[in-house]
Amino acid sequence: MHFDNTYGLLDDKLYHRQSVQSLEHVLPGHFNQVLAQQLQWTAEEQNDWVNIINGTHLPKEADPLAMVYAGHQFGQWAGQLGDGRGLLLGQVLDQAQNRVDLHLKGAGLTPYSRMGDGRAVLRSVIREYLAGHALNQLQIPSSNAVGFVYSHDLKIRREQLEPAAMMLRTSDCHVRLGHFEWINQYQPQLLKEFTEYCLKNYYPDCLKADQPILAFAKHVIDRTAYMIAQWQLVGFAHGVMNTDNLNITGSTLDFGPYGFMERFRPNWINNHSDDRGRYTYQNQPSIAHWNLWMWLNNLIPLADSTEKEQFKNDLVTALEAYEPAFLNYYTAGLCKKMGLPLEDERSFDCGIAFLRILQTEQLDYTSSFRHLTTHDYTEIRDNCLDIRAFDEFLALYHAIRATQSAEILDLDMQQHNPIYILRNHMAQRAIELAEQDDLSEVDRLFKLLTHPFSKQPDLERPQDLAPLPSDQPEVMVSCSS
Ligand code: AMP
Ligand code: MG
Repeated sequence: MHFDNTYGLLDDKLYHRQSVQSLEHVLPGHFNQVLAQQLQWTAEEQNDWVNIINGTHLPKEADPLAMVYAGHQFGQWAGQLGDGRGLLLGQVLDQAQNRVDLHLKGAGLTPYSRMGDGRAVLRSVIREYLAGHALNQLQIPSSNAVGFVYSHDLKIRREQLEPAAMMLRTSDCHVRLGHFEWINQYQPQLLKEFTEYCLKNYYPDCLKADQPILAFAKHVIDRTAYMIAQWQLVGFAHGVMNTDNLNITGSTLDFGPYGFMERFRPNWINNHSDDRGRYTYQNQPSIAHWNLWMWLNNLIPLADSTEKEQFKNDLVTALEAYEPAFLNYYTAGLCKKMGLPLEDERSFDCGIAFLRILQTEQLDYTSSFRHLTTHDYTEIRDNCLDIRAFDEFLALYHAIRATQSAEILDLDMQQHNPIYILRNHMAQRAIELAEQDDLSEVDRLFKLLTHPFSKQPDLERPQDLAPLPSDQPEVMVSCSS
């Protein structure tokens, strides 16, 4: 590993140096060797991954620290938060010389643990490990993980007692929108230095702009719009889009009660702790807008007093670009999923007509798009009650497609419609086996999700392709992790 730590050079009010509290009698969970190689782990480091992730054999350049940040949780100001159970071990250079954060989740108490125990349970670690991998393989900006370890020696109380685990997460950035909220609330004199750090490290091109901070804001808005569009397209619901769980580079962070949607229900709440439905699938684009608005407020003090009003107006205008940016990314992606030409103005409506059918008929989102990809229209039609609506859609669909070469459109569809997503019941089965020291299902899902667009008959189980039958209880997912 080639460490190149920058965060620990910032003012020490922004973090607390803290050592890892390792697990006793640790067991290997899973290791992402391809990622470790991308991160330039030596053969020796790869062989020693269990001890590295358990924190008993950290490289000497590691400089573990807990970051402090704040946030709005479920729409309410939550005050100071921070890494309550994770530590930034440092930043390493990958093969492409990009700086990547190594963050150890479940590493013990920190000054920011509040009422928590500083730990993560095996269940939530497996969910985050597999989902991060799944999103990365779907080309959606996201954190990932090098691997995880666990132990039966330490049982953690959630709804029940569960084994503790530690996961080594990677992300291009752990600076959350909530970092700016914390600084403005508690240490406003650090705002300038911190913002400069963010520009230098994450948006160096903005430093060349006429108005670097405005350019920075525009980029964050655009990247967030892109990420949310990709979530919507694949049917991913994050579950806890608090301002402390979104970062400034628009890559998915902090998987908790997330879910990949099965039957198409836009008002679906995967998170059973979200009783008001703030973070439903269909609310994600507008919640991101709300979060960005909260965040932009924190940039205002950076303007000179004479230019403050103008700067506020500029930020408002910048945020107005969020919705069209989201719609552009979403429309482009929907056309690719549908196999329809973007330049045909009927394509978007045709895509929406298809979604309306999925919603009315409560069809599985992923497999329906896949049937469209393989032209198995009867597979969808046979499951429709309103056949007339489907036939009307199909006639328009064929008419639009007839204007273009099917080959190119079909290739787009194959590359944008996964066969495999991480359904809750798939993760759940892997968790139940892992809790009994059988990691084979974690490994199988890891491999399956490595190639989500390719049929893998030797690896797949029929259950991977459909929701659980409606007479079986849904897997419950809550904030507890
Ligand atoms: P989350 O909603 O999981 O992103 O967590 C919100 C805040 O609670 C963050 O500051 C976490 O670090 C903290 N937190 C969550 N779980 C724990 C835990 N078991 N121990 C300490 N802090 C925690
Ligand atoms: Mg969080």
